[in-house]
Amino acid sequence: MRRLKRKEDKPVKKKRSQNRQILQIAYLFVLLFCVLIGYYSYFLITEGEEVASNPYNSARIDRQAERIRRGSILSSEGDVLAMTQTDETGEESRYYPYGNLFAQTVGYSTRGTTGIESVANELLLHCSLPATEQIYNELMGEKNEGDSVTTTLNLNLQQTLSDAMRGYTGAAVVLEPDTGRVLAMVSTPDFDPNTINQTYEDIIADDSNTNLLNKAAQGLYSPGSVFKLLTLLEYIRENPDSWQSFSYHCSGSIEVGGTTIGCSGGSAHGDVDAQRALELSCNGAFIEMGLALDRESFRETCEAAGFNQQIDFELPVSKSSFTLDLSDSVFQTAQTVFGQGETLVTPLHMAMIVSAIANNGTMCTPYVLERLTDSNGNTIAEYSSPSSAQIMTEREAAIISGMMEGVVTNGTAGSVQSDAYQAAAKTGSAQTGGDNETNAWFVGFAPAENPAVAIAIVLEEGGSGGTNAGPIAKAVFDASLIP
Ligand SMILES: [Zn+2]
Repeated sequence: MRRLKRKEDKPVKKKRSQNRQILQIAYLFVLLFCVLIGYYSYFLITEGEEVASNPYNSARIDRQAERIRRGSILSSEGDVLAMTQTDETGEESRYYPYGNLFAQTVGYSTRGTTGIESVANELLLHCSLPATEQIYNELMGEKNEGDSVTTTLNLNLQQTLSDAMRGYTGAAVVLEPDTGRVLAMVSTPDFDPNTINQTYEDIIADDSNTNLLNKAAQGLYSPGSVFKLLTLLEYIRENPDSWQSFSYHCSGSIEVGGTTIGCSGGSAHGDVDAQRALELSCNGAFIEMGLALDRESFRETCEAAGFNQQIDFELPVSKSSFTLDLSDSVFQTAQTVFGQGETLVTPLHMAMIVSAIANNGTMCTPYVLERLTDSNGNTIAEYSSPSSAQIMTEREAAIISGMMEGVVTNGTAGSVQSDAYQAAAKTGSAQTGGDNETNAWFVGFAPAENPAVAIAIVLEEGGSGGTNAGPIAKAVFDASLIP
């Protein structure tokens, strides 16, 4: 028995020690697995973001694309502006449901990245789903869905603006004055981002082709008479108690430094005060006002309003320039104060300036990215205007706003008159040299009392701002304000 027992004992002992070894190995694997999951989660949650946002890691971002399907770009109402489609073979392609409509603003990601596709590149190739969900998807051999960005862009306003600009070359921006949200941004001519791979070489081979350029933010234009708003601001600022007694007799032209400068259309405006001068856009009256200004102070006013400054917008922006200084001749000064001369602006910047007038003098830096969400629709981050600045006093803004209402009611911006709302505006027809047709400008906002939208439009060689650009602003105001 004892012997048998011993005989039996031995295998049992051996089996127990084998079980212990298997268990130890199993524990080791569980431990390793936990360490792996722990590290992976840590990497996804913390380092992943750091690594992804490091600009030197474009190779890393490209590798992200191998495990994450690029997220979508949405309008403020959730319309899909860009999305990734996957066919039955697993081949991915980027699809832009509205074709040309958001061309330069949304951009493309199939031939380098431009526009919002470029700004939000790292966000779209980052997945904020819970780590467990991401690991499960990877174990199942499936790609994780990248996060989506919701923009401030309004599909209806973008479509309205684009339709109204059909046939014109130019650019326009619509802002929400009290937030800086970019509601619409159009540059024409444009391109279809769906076919950019086929058309790209032809577009860049032609030096005169500006289809890829976001002229709304990068196009620099002579402001013409819309600049009179700044001359007016400075005149009111330097003459806070006497600006209302300004008077000028317009005979249709004015002689400055031996050169005759004509008034708009060569018409004689007769006796005008500051209000009437703005309504009729009388060059002579503004030259009279402008030549009396303190140039240093004028320059400070313009620089506070964003000239010679880099605007902190997500998309690339050209710097507007204002060069007037003490060494400039009387003729150069006269040119500058009514918007000719060396001054250059972008439509985006002009939209910001009228937004400040609409917003009690406060200028909000514009922005186009509103929200980041994971593919389950959970909000990961929300964005707002990065900064704002009081560029004129509330009183100055109220005076200019009221005078801009007069431009609509009794002046050159009659094309935006409406029974449904009162708009405030200023027109411009900027000379571009030679026999070229003038660039047509229109800036304004509505409703004047409680502004919901502000707009700046420039039409290259578009002729009269009031006649040709005004109806485009009217279409946007109507779409925005009439239910
Ligand atoms: Zn005049």
